[in-house]
Amino acid sequence: LTLHHQEEGKILEVIKDLSVNMLILFFPVLIYHLFEQRTRSRQKHFIAVASGLSIILCMIFPLELIKNNNLFDLRQIPFILSGLYGGLYPLLSSFTVLIGTRFYLGGEGALGAFWVNAILGGIMVAVIIRYRNKYTTSLQRIVGGGIISLLGSAITILIITFRTHTTPVTELLTHSLFQGAGTLSLLYMIEQLQKNHAIRNQFARQEKTEIVSQLAASISHEVRNPLTVIRGFIQLLRQEYIEPDKRKQYIDIALEELDRAESIISGYLQFAKQDSTETQILNLDEELAAILKLMEPYALNEGVTLTGPSSHCNGYILGDSALLRQCILNIIKNGIEATPPNGNVVVATACLMGKIHLEIIDTGIGMSKEQIRKLGEPYYSTKEKGTGLGMMVTYNGIQNMGGTIHVESQVKQGTKFVITFPTASLSMIEAYEKG
Ligand code: ADP
Ligand code: MG
Repeated sequence: LTLHHQEEGKILEVIKDLSVNMLILFFPVLIYHLFEQRTRSRQKHFIAVASGLSIILCMIFPLELIKNNNLFDLRQIPFILSGLYGGLYPLLSSFTVLIGTRFYLGGEGALGAFWVNAILGGIMVAVIIRYRNKYTTSLQRIVGGGIISLLGSAITILIITFRTHTTPVTELLTHSLFQGAGTLSLLYMIEQLQKNHAIRNQFARQEKTEIVSQLAASISHEVRNPLTVIRGFIQLLRQEYIEPDKRKQYIDIALEELDRAESIISGYLQFAKQDSTETQILNLDEELAAILKLMEPYALNEGVTLTGPSSHCNGYILGDSALLRQCILNIIKNGIEATPPNGNVVVATACLMGKIHLEIIDTGIGMSKEQIRKLGEPYYSTKEKGTGLGMMVTYNGIQNMGGTIHVESQVKQGTKFVITFPTASLSMIEAYEKG
Protein backbone atom coordinates (compact mmCIF):
# COMPACT_ATOMS: atom_id res chain seq x y z
CA LEU A 1 0.00 0.00 0.00
CA THR A 2 2.74 2.44 0.98
CA LEU A 3 4.56 1.58 -2.21
CA HIS A 4 1.41 2.41 -4.10
CA HIS A 5 1.18 5.77 -2.33
CA GLN A 6 4.78 6.52 -3.04
CA GLU A 7 4.23 5.85 -6.70
CA GLU A 8 1.24 8.18 -6.77
CA GLY A 9 3.20 10.87 -5.00
CA LYS A 10 5.96 10.55 -7.54
CA ILE A 11 3.61 10.90 -10.46
CA LEU A 12 2.01 14.00 -8.93
CA GLU A 13 5.48 15.40 -8.38
CA VAL A 14 6.38 14.87 -12.01
CA ILE A 15 3.14 16.49 -13.20
CA LYS A 16 3.74 19.48 -10.94
CA ASP A 17 7.32 19.93 -12.13
CA LEU A 18 6.34 19.59 -15.74
CA SER A 19 3.47 22.10 -15.43
CA VAL A 20 5.74 24.68 -13.84
CA ASN A 21 8.37 24.17 -16.52
CA MET A 22 5.83 24.32 -19.33
CA LEU A 23 4.64 27.66 -17.98
CA ILE A 24 8.20 28.94 -17.74
CA LEU A 25 8.92 27.90 -21.32
CA PHE A 26 5.64 28.73 -23.04
CA PHE A 27 4.95 32.04 -21.39
CA PRO A 28 7.76 34.08 -23.05
CA VAL A 29 6.87 32.64 -26.45
CA LEU A 30 3.26 33.74 -26.04
CA ILE A 31 4.27 37.19 -24.82
CA TYR A 32 6.65 37.51 -27.76
CA HIS A 33 3.88 36.86 -30.25
CA LEU A 34 1.36 38.95 -28.37
CA PHE A 35 3.50 42.07 -28.48
CA GLU A 36 5.04 41.93 -31.89
CA GLN A 37 8.39 43.70 -31.96
CA ARG A 38 8.74 45.54 -35.20
CA THR A 39 12.50 45.89 -35.59
CA ARG A 40 14.94 43.00 -35.73
CA SER A 41 17.18 44.45 -33.02
CA ARG A 42 14.25 44.79 -30.61
CA GLN A 43 13.29 41.20 -31.42
CA LYS A 44 16.80 40.11 -30.50
CA HIS A 45 16.76 42.05 -27.23
CA PHE A 46 13.41 40.50 -26.38
CA ILE A 47 14.60 36.98 -27.16
CA ALA A 48 17.79 37.53 -25.13
CA VAL A 49 15.92 38.79 -22.06
CA ALA A 50 13.09 36.26 -22.29
CA SER A 51 15.35 33.25 -22.68
CA GLY A 52 17.65 34.52 -19.90
CA LEU A 53 14.66 34.70 -17.55
CA SER A 54 13.41 31.30 -18.66
CA ILE A 55 16.80 29.75 -18.04
CA ILE A 56 17.03 31.17 -14.52
CA LEU A 57 13.48 30.05 -13.68
CA CYS A 58 14.09 26.58 -15.14
CA MET A 59 17.09 26.21 -12.85
CA ILE A 60 15.20 27.47 -9.79
CA PHE A 61 12.46 24.90 -10.48
CA PRO A 62 14.34 21.78 -11.57
CA LEU A 63 12.81 18.35 -12.08
CA GLU A 64 12.96 17.25 -8.43
CA LEU A 65 12.22 13.63 -9.17
CA ILE A 66 15.45 12.95 -10.98
CA LYS A 67 17.67 15.09 -8.81
CA ASN A 68 20.97 13.58 -7.72
CA ASN A 69 24.39 15.23 -7.66
CA ASN A 70 23.48 16.77 -10.95
CA LEU A 71 20.66 19.28 -11.37
CA PHE A 72 18.23 18.12 -14.01
CA ASP A 73 16.11 20.83 -15.52
CA LEU A 74 14.99 22.09 -18.92
CA ARG A 75 17.40 25.03 -19.23
CA GLN A 76 18.79 23.76 -22.51
CA ILE A 77 15.46 24.38 -24.24
CA PRO A 78 15.45 28.20 -24.00
CA PHE A 79 19.19 28.12 -24.63
CA ILE A 80 18.73 26.25 -27.92
CA LEU A 81 15.68 28.29 -28.99
CA SER A 82 17.40 31.61 -28.30
CA GLY A 83 20.11 30.72 -30.81
CA LEU A 84 17.76 29.15 -33.31
CA TYR A 85 15.37 32.13 -33.48
CA GLY A 86 17.54 34.98 -32.23
CA GLY A 87 21.04 34.28 -33.59
CA LEU A 88 24.47 34.78 -32.11
CA TYR A 89 23.88 37.63 -29.68
CA PRO A 90 20.90 36.05 -27.84
CA LEU A 91 22.76 32.72 -27.81
CA LEU A 92 25.82 34.28 -26.19
CA SER A 93 23.71 36.18 -23.69
CA SER A 94 21.74 33.09 -22.64
CA PHE A 95 24.97 31.11 -22.40
CA THR A 96 26.34 33.73 -20.01
CA VAL A 97 23.15 33.67 -17.93
CA LEU A 98 23.11 29.88 -17.85
CA ILE A 99 26.71 29.49 -16.74
CA GLY A 100 26.48 32.43 -14.33
CA THR A 101 23.40 30.97 -12.63
CA ARG A 102 24.89 27.48 -12.55
CA PHE A 103 28.06 28.64 -10.82
CA TYR A 104 26.00 30.78 -8.45
CA LEU A 105 24.00 27.68 -7.44
CA GLY A 106 27.34 25.93 -6.91
CA GLY A 107 27.99 22.24 -6.32
CA GLU A 108 30.12 19.69 -8.12
CA GLY A 109 28.13 19.72 -11.33
CA ALA A 110 28.83 23.36 -12.21
CA LEU A 111 32.03 22.73 -14.15
CA GLY A 112 30.38 19.85 -15.98
CA ALA A 113 27.49 22.11 -16.90
CA PHE A 114 29.97 24.61 -18.28
CA TRP A 115 31.48 22.02 -20.61
CA VAL A 116 28.12 20.63 -21.73
CA ASN A 117 26.81 24.02 -22.72
CA ALA A 118 30.08 25.28 -24.15
CA ILE A 119 30.11 22.31 -26.54
CA LEU A 120 26.42 22.65 -27.32
CA GLY A 121 26.89 26.41 -27.80
CA GLY A 122 29.76 25.74 -30.19
CA ILE A 123 27.55 23.47 -32.26
CA MET A 124 24.82 26.11 -32.24
CA VAL A 125 27.27 28.78 -33.45
CA ALA A 126 28.24 26.54 -36.35
CA VAL A 127 24.58 25.90 -37.18
CA ILE A 128 23.71 29.62 -36.99
CA ILE A 129 26.60 30.60 -39.27
CA ARG A 130 25.84 27.78 -41.70
CA TYR A 131 22.16 28.69 -42.07
CA ARG A 132 22.40 32.45 -41.69
CA ASN A 133 20.40 34.23 -44.43
CA LYS A 134 19.38 30.88 -45.89
CA TYR A 135 15.81 29.90 -46.39
CA THR A 136 14.67 27.05 -44.17
CA THR A 137 11.24 25.50 -44.03
CA SER A 138 9.19 25.15 -40.90
CA LEU A 139 9.69 21.39 -40.90
CA GLN A 140 13.47 21.76 -41.29
CA ARG A 141 13.57 24.09 -38.28
CA ILE A 142 11.51 21.71 -36.15
CA VAL A 143 13.60 18.66 -37.11
CA GLY A 144 16.85 20.63 -36.76
CA GLY A 145 15.85 21.92 -33.32
CA GLY A 146 14.90 18.39 -32.28
CA ILE A 147 18.28 17.04 -33.36
CA ILE A 148 20.12 19.80 -31.49
CA SER A 149 18.06 19.00 -28.40
CA LEU A 150 19.03 15.31 -28.68
CA LEU A 151 22.67 16.31 -29.14
CA GLY A 152 22.37 18.39 -25.96
CA SER A 153 21.14 15.34 -24.08
CA ALA A 154 23.90 13.16 -25.55
CA ILE A 155 26.61 15.65 -24.59
CA THR A 156 25.15 15.83 -21.07
CA ILE A 157 25.32 12.02 -20.77
CA LEU A 158 28.90 11.92 -22.02
CA ILE A 159 30.18 14.69 -19.78
CA ILE A 160 28.47 13.30 -16.67
CA THR A 161 29.87 9.82 -17.36
CA PHE A 162 33.29 11.22 -18.09
CA ARG A 163 33.45 13.42 -15.01
CA THR A 164 31.77 11.19 -12.39
CA HIS A 165 32.57 7.77 -13.85
CA THR A 166 28.93 6.81 -13.25
CA THR A 167 25.93 6.88 -15.54
CA PRO A 168 22.60 7.50 -13.81
CA VAL A 169 20.71 5.85 -16.64
CA THR A 170 17.09 6.34 -15.50
CA GLU A 171 17.61 9.99 -14.66
CA LEU A 172 19.46 10.73 -17.88
CA LEU A 173 16.91 8.97 -20.06
CA THR A 174 13.95 10.61 -18.33
CA HIS A 175 15.62 13.97 -18.71
CA SER A 176 16.39 13.40 -22.41
CA LEU A 177 12.80 12.40 -23.01
CA PHE A 178 11.39 15.51 -21.29
CA GLN A 179 13.86 17.76 -23.03
CA GLY A 180 13.14 16.28 -26.46
CA ALA A 181 9.37 16.44 -26.01
CA GLY A 182 9.60 19.97 -24.59
CA THR A 183 11.75 21.25 -27.44
CA LEU A 184 9.54 19.72 -30.09
CA SER A 185 6.30 21.07 -28.65
CA LEU A 186 7.77 24.56 -28.28
CA LEU A 187 9.19 24.50 -31.79
CA TYR A 188 5.81 23.42 -33.10
CA MET A 189 4.05 26.19 -31.22
CA ILE A 190 6.49 28.88 -32.38
CA GLU A 191 6.22 27.76 -35.99
CA GLN A 192 2.42 27.73 -35.80
CA LEU A 193 2.31 31.23 -34.33
CA GLN A 194 4.70 32.52 -36.99
CA LYS A 195 2.62 30.96 -39.71
CA ASN A 196 -0.47 32.82 -38.46
CA HIS A 197 1.54 36.00 -38.39
CA ALA A 198 2.72 35.51 -41.97
CA ILE A 199 -0.83 34.90 -43.15
CA ARG A 200 -1.94 38.15 -41.56
CA ASN A 201 0.83 40.09 -43.29
CA GLN A 202 -0.19 38.51 -46.55
CA PHE A 203 -3.74 39.82 -46.05
CA ALA A 204 -2.35 43.28 -45.52
CA ARG A 205 -0.41 43.15 -48.77
CA GLN A 206 -3.39 41.78 -50.66
CA GLU A 207 -5.56 44.65 -49.43
CA LYS A 208 -2.98 47.16 -50.47
CA THR A 209 -2.77 45.82 -54.02
CA GLU A 210 -6.54 46.00 -54.16
CA ILE A 211 -6.61 49.65 -53.12
CA VAL A 212 -3.71 50.59 -55.38
CA SER A 213 -5.50 49.27 -58.44
CA GLN A 214 -8.84 50.81 -57.47
CA LEU A 215 -7.27 54.21 -56.90
CA ALA A 216 -5.37 53.98 -60.16
CA ALA A 217 -8.64 54.09 -62.10
CA SER A 218 -9.88 57.30 -60.52
CA ILE A 219 -6.45 58.87 -60.63
CA SER A 220 -5.88 58.30 -64.32
CA HIS A 221 -9.31 59.80 -64.89
CA GLU A 222 -8.33 62.80 -62.82
CA VAL A 223 -5.07 63.33 -64.67
CA ARG A 224 -6.93 63.42 -67.95
CA ASN A 225 -8.68 66.69 -66.99
CA PRO A 226 -5.57 68.86 -66.71
CA LEU A 227 -4.17 67.21 -69.83
CA THR A 228 -7.25 68.25 -71.80
CA VAL A 229 -6.89 71.82 -70.54
CA ILE A 230 -3.20 71.91 -71.45
CA ARG A 231 -3.94 70.58 -74.90
CA GLY A 232 -6.50 73.34 -75.45
CA PHE A 233 -4.12 76.11 -74.48
CA ILE A 234 -1.28 74.77 -76.56
CA GLN A 235 -3.62 74.77 -79.52
CA LEU A 236 -4.41 78.43 -78.80
CA LEU A 237 -0.69 79.21 -78.68
CA ARG A 238 -0.31 77.83 -82.19
CA GLN A 239 -2.09 80.89 -83.62
CA GLU A 240 0.32 83.19 -85.44
CA TYR A 241 -0.78 86.53 -84.09
CA ILE A 242 -1.22 86.51 -80.40
CA GLU A 243 -0.90 89.31 -77.85
CA PRO A 244 2.11 88.91 -75.53
CA ASP A 245 -0.21 89.30 -72.50
CA LYS A 246 -2.50 86.53 -73.64
CA ARG A 247 0.41 84.30 -74.54
CA LYS A 248 1.86 84.61 -71.06
CA GLN A 249 -1.54 83.88 -69.52
CA TYR A 250 -2.01 80.71 -71.61
CA ILE A 251 1.43 79.44 -70.74
CA ASP A 252 0.86 80.08 -67.03
CA ILE A 253 -2.41 78.16 -67.03
CA ALA A 254 -0.83 75.25 -68.91
CA LEU A 255 2.05 75.12 -66.43
CA GLU A 256 -0.32 75.20 -63.47
CA GLU A 257 -2.30 72.32 -64.89
CA LEU A 258 0.88 70.39 -65.53
CA ASP A 259 1.86 70.85 -61.89
CA ARG A 260 -1.55 69.63 -60.79
CA ALA A 261 -1.28 66.49 -62.87
CA GLU A 262 2.22 65.94 -61.59
CA SER A 263 1.19 66.24 -57.94
CA ILE A 264 -1.71 63.82 -58.39
CA ILE A 265 0.60 61.25 -59.91
CA SER A 266 3.39 61.68 -57.37
CA GLY A 267 0.96 61.37 -54.44
CA TYR A 268 -0.28 58.13 -55.88
CA LEU A 269 3.16 56.75 -56.57
CA GLN A 270 4.30 57.59 -53.07
CA PHE A 271 1.45 55.58 -51.66
CA ALA A 272 1.86 52.70 -54.08
CA LYS A 273 5.55 52.17 -53.44
CA GLN A 274 5.71 52.58 -49.66
CA ASP A 275 6.02 49.15 -48.16
CA SER A 276 8.40 48.91 -45.23
CA THR A 277 7.31 49.43 -41.66
CA GLU A 278 9.40 51.40 -39.23
CA THR A 279 8.72 53.76 -36.37
CA GLN A 280 9.01 57.43 -37.19
CA ILE A 281 7.88 60.70 -35.64
CA LEU A 282 4.86 61.77 -37.64
CA ASN A 283 3.05 65.08 -37.79
CA LEU A 284 -0.53 63.90 -38.00
CA ASP A 285 -1.74 67.03 -39.82
CA GLU A 286 0.92 66.61 -42.49
CA GLU A 287 0.05 62.96 -42.94
CA LEU A 288 -3.63 63.84 -43.24
CA ALA A 289 -2.92 66.52 -45.82
CA ALA A 290 -1.07 63.96 -47.95
CA ILE A 291 -3.87 61.39 -47.58
CA LEU A 292 -6.59 63.90 -48.45
CA LYS A 293 -4.70 65.04 -51.51
CA LEU A 294 -4.45 61.44 -52.62
CA MET A 295 -8.14 60.72 -51.99
CA GLU A 296 -9.54 63.89 -53.58
CA PRO A 297 -9.80 62.51 -57.13
CA TYR A 298 -11.56 59.45 -55.81
CA ALA A 299 -14.09 61.50 -53.80
CA LEU A 300 -14.68 63.76 -56.79
CA ASN A 301 -15.38 60.75 -58.96
CA GLU A 302 -18.00 59.52 -56.49
CA GLY A 303 -19.57 62.96 -56.16
CA VAL A 304 -18.69 63.23 -52.47
CA THR A 305 -17.22 66.31 -50.84
CA LEU A 306 -14.12 65.47 -48.83
CA THR A 307 -13.00 68.16 -46.39
CA GLY A 308 -10.48 68.55 -43.61
CA PRO A 309 -8.61 68.50 -41.42
CA SER A 310 -10.80 71.23 -39.96
CA SER A 311 -8.61 71.99 -36.94
CA HIS A 312 -4.85 71.76 -36.77
CA CYS A 313 -3.50 70.74 -33.42
CA ASN A 314 -0.04 70.17 -34.80
CA GLY A 315 0.44 67.02 -32.75
CA TYR A 316 3.10 64.36 -33.23
CA ILE A 317 2.70 60.63 -32.92
CA LEU A 318 5.05 57.68 -33.23
CA GLY A 319 4.18 55.32 -36.04
CA ASP A 320 4.88 54.19 -39.54
CA SER A 321 3.93 56.66 -42.24
CA ALA A 322 3.00 54.08 -44.89
CA LEU A 323 0.96 52.04 -42.43
CA LEU A 324 -0.81 55.08 -40.99
CA ARG A 325 -1.67 56.35 -44.44
CA GLN A 326 -3.09 53.04 -45.50
CA CYS A 327 -5.17 52.71 -42.33
CA ILE A 328 -6.71 56.17 -42.56
CA LEU A 329 -7.13 55.78 -46.29
CA ASN A 330 -9.14 52.59 -45.75
CA ILE A 331 -11.51 54.40 -43.39
CA ILE A 332 -11.94 57.42 -45.67
CA LYS A 333 -12.45 55.18 -48.67
CA ASN A 334 -15.17 53.23 -46.84
CA GLY A 335 -16.76 56.55 -45.84
CA ILE A 336 -16.83 57.75 -49.44
CA GLU A 337 -18.19 54.41 -50.63
CA ALA A 338 -20.96 54.49 -48.00
CA THR A 339 -21.98 58.03 -48.87
CA PRO A 340 -24.40 58.79 -51.72
CA PRO A 341 -23.54 61.58 -54.21
CA ASN A 342 -23.67 65.12 -52.74
CA GLY A 343 -22.86 63.75 -49.29
CA ASN A 344 -19.90 64.71 -47.13
CA VAL A 345 -16.88 63.09 -45.58
CA VAL A 346 -15.18 65.29 -43.00
CA VAL A 347 -11.83 64.69 -41.36
CA ALA A 348 -10.95 66.52 -38.14
CA THR A 349 -8.25 66.36 -35.46
CA ALA A 350 -8.23 67.44 -31.83
CA CYS A 351 -5.46 67.37 -29.22
CA LEU A 352 -6.71 66.62 -25.73
CA MET A 353 -4.87 65.66 -22.55
CA GLY A 354 -1.89 63.94 -24.08
CA LYS A 355 -3.93 62.26 -26.80
CA ILE A 356 -4.68 63.05 -30.41
CA HIS A 357 -8.16 62.29 -31.63
CA LEU A 358 -8.77 61.90 -35.31
CA GLU A 359 -12.38 61.89 -36.49
CA ILE A 360 -13.62 60.69 -39.84
CA ILE A 361 -17.31 61.44 -40.24
CA ASP A 362 -19.47 60.51 -43.18
CA THR A 363 -23.12 61.14 -44.07
CA GLY A 364 -23.49 57.66 -45.52
CA ILE A 365 -25.68 54.60 -45.06
CA GLY A 366 -24.44 53.87 -41.54
CA MET A 367 -24.20 50.54 -39.74
CA SER A 368 -26.23 48.57 -37.23
CA LYS A 369 -24.74 47.50 -33.88
CA GLU A 370 -24.25 44.03 -35.31
CA GLN A 371 -22.34 45.41 -38.30
CA ILE A 372 -20.11 47.55 -36.09
CA ARG A 373 -19.28 44.49 -34.03
CA LYS A 374 -18.16 42.63 -37.14
CA LEU A 375 -15.83 45.42 -38.32
CA GLY A 376 -12.27 44.16 -38.52
CA GLU A 377 -13.22 40.54 -39.07
CA PRO A 378 -11.41 39.23 -42.14
CA TYR A 379 -13.63 38.97 -45.22
CA TYR A 380 -16.57 40.72 -43.60
CA SER A 381 -17.98 42.86 -46.39
CA THR A 382 -21.43 44.00 -47.46
CA LYS A 383 -20.18 45.19 -50.85
CA GLU A 384 -20.49 43.29 -54.06
CA LYS A 385 -16.85 43.86 -54.93
CA GLY A 386 -15.63 44.26 -51.37
CA THR A 387 -12.64 42.41 -49.97
CA GLY A 388 -13.57 42.73 -46.31
CA LEU A 389 -9.86 43.14 -45.56
CA GLY A 390 -9.62 46.93 -45.26
CA MET A 391 -10.94 47.16 -41.73
CA MET A 392 -8.92 44.17 -40.57
CA VAL A 393 -5.71 45.78 -41.80
CA THR A 394 -6.76 49.09 -40.27
CA TYR A 395 -7.62 47.68 -36.84
CA ASN A 396 -4.36 45.74 -36.68
CA GLY A 397 -2.30 48.65 -37.93
CA ILE A 398 -3.75 51.26 -35.58
CA GLN A 399 -3.37 48.87 -32.66
CA ASN A 400 0.26 48.21 -33.60
CA MET A 401 0.94 51.95 -33.47
CA GLY A 402 -0.56 52.18 -29.99
CA GLY A 403 -3.86 53.69 -31.11
CA THR A 404 -7.48 52.74 -30.52
CA ILE A 405 -10.57 52.91 -32.76
CA HIS A 406 -14.04 53.83 -31.63
CA VAL A 407 -17.04 53.69 -33.96
CA GLU A 408 -20.42 55.39 -33.67
CA SER A 409 -23.03 54.93 -36.34
CA GLN A 410 -26.71 55.46 -37.12
CA VAL A 411 -28.33 53.53 -39.92
CA LYS A 412 -29.17 55.87 -42.83
CA GLN A 413 -27.59 58.80 -40.97
CA GLY A 414 -23.87 58.25 -41.12
CA THR A 415 -20.82 56.98 -39.32
CA LYS A 416 -18.12 58.47 -37.14
CA PHE A 417 -14.74 56.79 -36.68
CA VAL A 418 -12.65 58.16 -33.82
CA ILE A 419 -9.01 57.10 -33.75
CA THR A 420 -7.06 57.99 -30.66
CA PHE A 421 -3.26 58.03 -30.48
CA PRO A 422 -1.03 58.88 -27.55
CA THR A 423 0.76 62.13 -28.36
CA ALA A 424 4.49 61.66 -28.84
CA SER A 425 5.95 63.49 -25.86
CA LEU A 426 9.29 65.24 -25.91
CA SER A 427 10.89 62.36 -24.01
CA MET A 428 9.48 59.81 -26.48
CA ILE A 429 10.87 61.85 -29.37
CA GLU A 430 14.27 62.11 -27.68
CA ALA A 431 14.32 58.40 -26.94
CA TYR A 432 13.43 57.72 -30.56
CA GLU A 433 16.17 60.00 -31.88
CA LYS A 434 18.75 58.25 -29.74
CA GLY A 435 17.55 54.99 -31.32
P1 ADP B 1 -14.77 46.36 -47.92
O1 ADP B 1 -14.67 47.85 -47.97
O2 ADP B 1 -13.92 45.70 -48.95
O3 ADP B 1 -16.18 45.86 -47.90
P2 ADP B 1 -13.81 46.75 -45.26
O4 ADP B 1 -13.08 45.86 -44.33
O5 ADP B 1 -13.12 48.01 -45.65
O6 ADP B 1 -14.13 45.88 -46.55
O7 ADP B 1 -15.20 47.08 -44.64
C1 ADP B 1 -16.04 46.05 -44.16
C2 ADP B 1 -17.48 46.46 -44.12
O8 ADP B 1 -17.72 47.40 -43.09
C3 ADP B 1 -18.00 47.13 -45.37
O9 ADP B 1 -18.37 46.20 -46.35
C4 ADP B 1 -19.20 47.90 -44.84
O10 ADP B 1 -20.34 47.08 -44.74
C5 ADP B 1 -18.80 48.25 -43.43
N1 ADP B 1 -18.35 49.66 -43.31
C6 ADP B 1 -17.08 50.09 -43.11
N2 ADP B 1 -17.03 51.43 -43.03
C7 ADP B 1 -18.28 51.88 -43.18
C8 ADP B 1 -18.91 53.19 -43.20
N3 ADP B 1 -18.17 54.32 -43.03
N4 ADP B 1 -20.25 53.26 -43.37
C9 ADP B 1 -20.97 52.13 -43.51
N5 ADP B 1 -20.47 50.88 -43.52
C10 ADP B 1 -19.15 50.74 -43.36
MG1 MG C 1 -12.98 49.06 -47.60
